[in-house]
Amino acid sequence: MSFFSPAAPSIFSAMVAPLLRWYAASARKMPWRMSLPDPYRTLVSEIMLQQTRVETVKPYYERFIAELPTVAELAAADEERLLKLWEGLGYYSRVRNLQKAAQKVMREFGGELPADRDLLLSLPGIGEYTAGAIASIAFGLPEPAVDGNVLRVCARLTDCHADIADPAFRRETRDLLKAVYPPGKCSDLTQSIMDLGAVVCLPGSPHCPECPLAEICLARKSGTAPALPVKKAAAERKIENRTVFLLFSDSGRIALRKRPGRGILAGLWEYPAETGKLTRSEVGQWLKNHQIETVGIKKAGACKHIFTHLEWHQTGWLIQCQGENSEFTWTTLRDLHERYSLPSAFQGFSTAVNEIAAGKRAASK
Ligand code: SF4
Repeated sequence: MSFFSPAAPSIFSAMVAPLLRWYAASARKMPWRMSLPDPYRTLVSEIMLQQTRVETVKPYYERFIAELPTVAELAAADEERLLKLWEGLGYYSRVRNLQKAAQKVMREFGGELPADRDLLLSLPGIGEYTAGAIASIAFGLPEPAVDGNVLRVCARLTDCHADIADPAFRRETRDLLKAVYPPGKCSDLTQSIMDLGAVVCLPGSPHCPECPLAEICLARKSGTAPALPVKKAAAERKIENRTVFLLFSDSGRIALRKRPGRGILAGLWEYPAETGKLTRSEVGQWLKNHQIETVGIKKAGACKHIFTHLEWHQTGWLIQCQGENSEFTWTTLRDLHERYSLPSAFQGFSTAVNEIAAGKRAASK
């Protein structure tokens, strides 16, 4: 069974020339496009771009490449340094897998990323989309990179009302696109479809009058473009309440601990926390259980953090402690900023932390 109409192959074929012309004139300027495509740089940029906006990624990419310009340097990098370079980008498993991929490239491929989609797929953290992107952009192979933007463009071009979340729809889209990849222009074709989806064929309101494919687009002709693509509603996110303890010692240091090695934000630093929204008396009991002597307790606001399938609703408590319980790692605010990478899930508490630290400094003068 085909998701597309019999006209789809000829529409995809007709899209290539106008799209490449448009790309030659209007390609977006991005740091990873400033030189000839390079497999390592393409890998880094594509991993960073997963679930993250281009504008957010740009400074991170530049800093990362400046510090770790080669696969070998990434493979050998210290984990804390790596996490610091990634701090704020989120989805930290990406950078860990990126390093594992680099280590495998050093071990098994002589330090060069393989120019083969299946071998690229064997690297940690590289899925169908990223393998296609590296294979086509960096190696010029006829391998499409199909993400949500590309599925949207293809569904609209062919006025296809199938569910784009269906993996079989994605596979058929890839096969149809692969058949029209032009030798010598594979890199440009992948990037041109990406750009069209990102700046012209936008999700809610496509800019059809500016589109190089307007003449051949069936959804534009039938007026269905804004309603496409069809996508099943995503499952609702689970909500988890948490209580976060901002523990300050009498010498002005703040407590951190490492998260468990598996699950969300695995192995990263965090402020000590407990599941559930604790009352003041439950907070007192938690402190007692952890043998923490206190001289003051007050609320430190709330913040929400959204993961793909989960929301953390966090309530903070500012705790002035006597001494430093050895269960935790105690750090100065300066080291917190310079040495530790704290996930953005806790950024909502940074104002409270900075205010307390500033108060401590003022009191000690
Ligand atoms: Fe998208 Fe409109 Fe272009 Fe069709 S004509 S591909 S709907 S922007």
